[in-house]
Amino acid sequence: MDFERHFTDQLSALKAEGNYRFFADLERVCGQFPKVRNHGPGPDEVTVWCSNDYLGMGQHPDVVAAMVDVAQSCGTGAGGTRNISGTAHHHVALEHELADLHGKDDALLFSSGYVSNWAALSTLGSRLPGAVIFSDSLNHASMIEGMRHSRAERVIWRHNDPEDLDRKLSAYGPDVPKIVAFESVYSMDGDIAPIAEICDVAEKHGAMTYLDEVHAVGMYGPRGGGVAEREGLMDRITLIEGTLGKAFGCFGGYITGSKALCDFIRSFASGFIFTTAIPPAVAAAATAAVRHLKTSEIERMRQRRQVARLRERLDRLGIPHLPNPSHIIPVMIGDPVKCRMIADVLMESYGIYVQPINYPTVPKGTERLRFTPGPLHSDADIDHLVEALNGLWKQCALSRQVA
Ligand SMILES: *Cc1c(COP(=O)(O)O)cnc(C)c1O
Repeated sequence: MDFERHFTDQLSALKAEGNYRFFADLERVCGQFPKVRNHGPGPDEVTVWCSNDYLGMGQHPDVVAAMVDVAQSCGTGAGGTRNISGTAHHHVALEHELADLHGKDDALLFSSGYVSNWAALSTLGSRLPGAVIFSDSLNHASMIEGMRHSRAERVIWRHNDPEDLDRKLSAYGPDVPKIVAFESVYSMDGDIAPIAEICDVAEKHGAMTYLDEVHAVGMYGPRGGGVAEREGLMDRITLIEGTLGKAFGCFGGYITGSKALCDFIRSFASGFIFTTAIPPAVAAAATAAVRHLKTSEIERMRQRRQVARLRERLDRLGIPHLPNPSHIIPVMIGDPVKCRMIADVLMESYGIYVQPINYPTVPKGTERLRFTPGPLHSDADIDHLVEALNGLWKQCALSRQVA
């Protein structure tokens, strides 16, 4: 086989349909986020509008200091898997902090949120005899891969639809172990699951609940415990999964749950066992971020203000965006080539960085620009963004929505 030819042919096909991915070559500058140095086409300094460092915790002085201090006191890497010499006291402390955040008995760290979903779901699905996993149709790739790897039977229920979930659960007898897997904030549409109703249905059928709060931890709930905390539902969820890489501004993933559940995953998940623990300095930084957001409301309040402000400005100009109750503002374009082109003009002419979101991240025909305003975007940043979009909407004769 001509391997090189095969690679380039497939890539050419991606490019032709507008779905080839270009990475922006940026350099974060601590203290100036969301302004970053740009090493690609466009101005030298650009404003990031699509970061998952939702609250700017990646440059918070306490978080940076924790990472630097521990790198200096402990060195860089963990030096092993958790089992073989890799457990640092910083991992243990972070697990305590996370268990407390979600009101659970225990927590378990992973290399990333992706790995935590993959490892936990594949272990539950394969180690609970005859288990069936009921998966929301818009669940993240990491959950899908975990379920697939488990080889457990998988039933897809209609997105955010507890009645459909109820119907699908009803088709299985009371003795079948059932896992209901879903997310709180869905990151592409920014909609939020009806967690209480889903718990009602799951409890009725004796199913365990698995909730991905990756896009909610740090940002929702009085202590940043996520949407389940905000709604007083954490104790009804069997397993809450989160990331340290988004609102906590660091790196790594985790699950929280009962002692036995976490011990079970710890003992059987190959994605936990056979990989080097996250660096102690990263664990320490994440601990500082989690702790900070347990008591500080300023970041969350300011984020909500800027989200509302951008939405209101878009509405006034009739720039269509998906209405939702979260911090994510998807501006719909509906065409991969146009989406890419608009993003390129924003970057090169206006110093605005927003990544075009195309297939397979979202369905074809729903291509979009996904804006995530944060506490560190100034009112002037918002003005500049809105003026740029308004100009582009005129120039490209894009449709507007009359309020
Ligand atoms: C980003 C994401 C993950 C993975 O988290 P990482 O820490 O980035 O690996 C898991 N679930 C959802 C819904 C996500 O958006």
